Amino acid sequence: MKICNYCVDKLRNNKDINRNVFNRLTVIPTPECITELNVFERTLIKFCMPCVTIIRLGQITNKTRPQNELTAALKGRIAYLPVNVEANAKFLPDNLLNVDSLVLLVGGQPTQNKKIWTSLVDLSKVHKALTWLRQHNYLYKDVPAYTLEDLQSIMHKRIATINSSDHSEQDSALLKKLDDASKSYLYENFSIQPLSSSVPSDVVIDYQLNKVSGQSMNIFDSDLDVKAFPELFPTGENGIRDSMRELKIATTDFIRSRLLNRNPKFRLNINYLFHCFQVQEVSNMCHSIGHMLRSVTGNKLSAKEFHERLQNKDGEINSNMFSLMANMRGSKEYFAKLGRM
Ligand SMILES: [Zn+2]
Repeated sequence: MKICNYCVDKLRNNKDINRNVFNRLTVIPTPECITELNVFERTLIKFCMPCVTIIRLGQITNKTRPQNELTAALKGRIAYLPVNVEANAKFLPDNLLNVDSLVLLVGGQPTQNKKIWTSLVDLSKVHKALTWLRQHNYLYKDVPAYTLEDLQSIMHKRIATINSSDHSEQDSALLKKLDDASKSYLYENFSIQPLSSSVPSDVVIDYQLNKVSGQSMNIFDSDLDVKAFPELFPTGENGIRDSMRELKIATTDFIRSRLLNRNPKFRLNINYLFHCFQVQEVSNMCHSIGHMLRSVTGNKLSAKEFHERLQNKDGEINSNMFSLMANMRGSKEYFAKLGRM
């Protein structure tokens, strides 16, 4: 039997190995009904959407190093915007008589360069994925999913009571049908780009994904990763803060176990990489702040006193803040420290 160094050290010292599959770290394979969804369809089955903005900070020049080693500094921000899955799931039955077919051509929100990306959204695929999630993921147990037979019976009932339509929930669904005015506005002001070659570029888009809005979710929400990435955690289990996990696992260890896993789906998901980066950074920050509160004069510093001393520009706190921030890659203090060396 062969054992890796990591495990051997732990076993010799009679310690538990927290980075092991029995510690709720099994990677659950994503079913095909989810992997086959395109970007737009995937958005419709999520509880929240990670939105990442990245800015490149200037050019780096260094004559002594080869060009490919000079990575430009990037600064980014990530927010997790809530998505109303339930309203998205009900979009189809609510609009049954207004929807032209089960496959819609949907445009995204305009980008800064005035481009609108479009793609087909196959609502039957979305519902197939929702049906799977409803059976296997506890987060989705109340989210409606419809089969073609369900839809047929809804349609029959709807035709019977056609006058009593209720559109209250429709507004929070992500998809919206464009009227002629907004369609011509889109076509006059933006250039329309198909996301995949399956759509000819001259087909007129009828639907658009609404802007995701609302307060960003709490980054300390214990279900954040499983809610934002159902394509990686299809059953909603084994996330970073899984409450059933018996041995505590450090943030670094968890992220390592995902990104280095035999299954490459985690490291191939760019949004997840940024998510991990942020989680790691927040965790580093929490550690440093904790350490600082314990080591500063006066010992037991409460958050309130800390805040007051910060506001009064306390010298000791300020110099500590500097060393704290200097460890955070990308901060002003980080670059100031580099400049000094
Ligand atoms: Zn091992």
